[in-house]
Amino acid sequence: MGVIEAIKAVVGAGAVFEGEAIEATYLSDWVVPMTDGRPLGLVKPATTVEVAAVMRVAHEAAIPVVVQGGRTGLAGGATPVDGGLVLSLERMSGVEEVDGAASTMTVLAGTPLQTVQEAASDAGLYFGLDMGARGTSQVGGMVATNAGGNRVIRFGMMRDLVLGLEVVLADGTVITALNKLIKNNAGYDVRQYFIGSEGTLGIVTRAVLKLHPEPRSVSTAFCSVASYDQVIGLLQHARAWLAGSLSAFELMWGDYYTLMTAEGGAPAPLPAGSTAYLLIEALGTDPGADPQRFDEMLEAAAGKGLIDDAAVAHSAREAAAFWQVRDSSAEFARLGWPALGYDIGIPTRDIGRFIEACRARLQAAWPGSQTAFFGHIGDSNLHLHVKTPPAIPMREVTDLVYGLVAEWHGTTSAEHGIGTLRRPYLGYTRTEAELSVMRRIKAALDPKGILNPGKILDGDPGD
Ligand SMILES: Cc1cc2nc3c(=O)[nH]c(=O)nc-3n(C[C@H](O)[C@H](O)[C@H](O)COP(=O)(O)OP(=O)(O)OC[C@H]3O[C@@H](n4cnc5c(N)ncnc54)[C@H](O)[C@@H]3O)c2cc1C
Repeated sequence: MGVIEAIKAVVGAGAVFEGEAIEATYLSDWVVPMTDGRPLGLVKPATTVEVAAVMRVAHEAAIPVVVQGGRTGLAGGATPVDGGLVLSLERMSGVEEVDGAASTMTVLAGTPLQTVQEAASDAGLYFGLDMGARGTSQVGGMVATNAGGNRVIRFGMMRDLVLGLEVVLADGTVITALNKLIKNNAGYDVRQYFIGSEGTLGIVTRAVLKLHPEPRSVSTAFCSVASYDQVIGLLQHARAWLAGSLSAFELMWGDYYTLMTAEGGAPAPLPAGSTAYLLIEALGTDPGADPQRFDEMLEAAAGKGLIDDAAVAHSAREAAAFWQVRDSSAEFARLGWPALGYDIGIPTRDIGRFIEACRARLQAAWPGSQTAFFGHIGDSNLHLHVKTPPAIPMREVTDLVYGLVAEWHGTTSAEHGIGTLRRPYLGYTRTEAELSVMRRIKAALDPKGILNPGKILDGDPGD
C-alpha cells in the first residue's frame, strides 16, 4: 500500500487531499509562499490517535511532515516542503476543561487564540496573551513559536503560560504530559523542548494553559518624550508605581509615528515632532482606585521630567484609538513599503543608541533610506521596517541589520521565530556550542529528520 492509501486508511479518505484539491491557502504561511514543487498530500486528522498513526506511516516511509496551525507565522515555518505531507490541526479544536482551582484551561492544539480568551472570560478568568492574529492563530502554533505579543511585560510569553503538553513525536510516540502543577521539579522539564521548536521536534496536540484573574480595570495613556533616556526612566518609574499591574509599554519612534499618523490613517493622540511616543497600559483589580493611581503615576513622571506630553484615555473608545496607532504596523504593505520587516531584540538600555546607529548605517549605505522603529520595549523587543531606494537587494539590507544586531549582542528573532527566513542568521545570535546542542536534540527526537526539514537549522540532523 502507498503512503497516501495507508494514511487514508487511518484518517478516512475525506481527510486527505492531493494535487489540485489542496487549496492555495495551505501552500504558504503569512509571509513565505511555497515556490518549489508540491506537497505529497494535505492531511486533516481529528484526534491524537490519528496524528500518531499518520506519523508512524510517515516515519516508516521517511516522508517529511510540516505541521500547520493558523498559518499566521511570520518566518516561513508552516510553509510546505516539496514531496512532504502537510498536517493541518484545524479539526482538533475545542476547550476541554477550565479548572478554576488550578486556574488552568486544557485545550486541543487547533483551538484559535480568541476562543481561548473568550472561554477564560466566560469562567471569570483571563488568558494573558494577545496579538493581532488572535482570530486565526492556534494554540499549537503559538506554543511552537513561543508567541509573545502586547502583554509579555505582565504575563510573559507562551513559555510562561504553558503548564503541560501532549505531543506526538516523529515516530508516532505520544507523550502525555498534561501537567497542571506550578511546581514540578521531577527531572528534565520535557515540555520546554517543544515550546519554540517550530514543528521540528514534535507535534503539539493538547496544552494545559495557565490562566490569571480577570482584570477589572484598564488604564491607558499615550505619552511623548524627547529622548531615549526619558523612555528608560519612565519604564522604571511605571514599573515601580504600578507594581505588577503594568501590562503594556509600547514604543513608537518618531519616524513610525509620523508615517502612521500622516499616511497610515491612524489618529494622532499627540502632535508629531517628538523623538518617541509610548503607549502605557495597566490592568488592575480595583476599578475604584486604579485610575487615580495611574494618573498619579503620570503626574509624578511629569514632575521628574520623564514625559513631555501625555493623553489619558477616558473611555474604551479613546483607548482603542491609542492602540490603533500601535497596531498600524499592519499597514506597511498597503503604504508600499517592501517586505523588509525585522523582529529583533536589543538590550533595553541600548535600544535608543542602536536606533541611531542603525539609521546612520543605512543612510551611509543607501542615502534616502526610510526607517520605522517600534516595539515592545519593556521586553527588549524592537520591530524595524526599512524602505530603501528600489534597486537595493533585500539580502544586503538584511545582512546590514543583522550584522549590527550581532555587534550589539542582540537577537535576530525576539518573538517570530527562525523558520526559513532567519535560518542563515541563526549563528549571529547563538554560539556554535548552542547550535551543536540544538542539532543533538533534533537528532535524538527526530533521527530521520522528517519533522519540518530545513526549518531553524540547516541540513540533516547531526551534521
Ligand atoms: C497580524 C499578525 C500579528 C502577529 N502578532 C504577533 C505578536 O504580537 N507576537 C508574536 O509573537 N507573534 C505574532 N504574530 C506571529 C505569530 O507567530 C503567529 O501568529 C502564531 O504564533 C503562530 O500560530 P499559527 O497557529 O498561525 O501557526 P502557523 O503559522 O501555522 O505555524 C507556525 C509554526 O508552528 C508550527 N506549528 C503549528 N502548529 C503546530 C503544532 N500543533 N505542533 C507543532 N508545531 C506546530 C509550524 O510548523 C510552524 O513552524 C503575528 C502574526 C500576524 C499575522
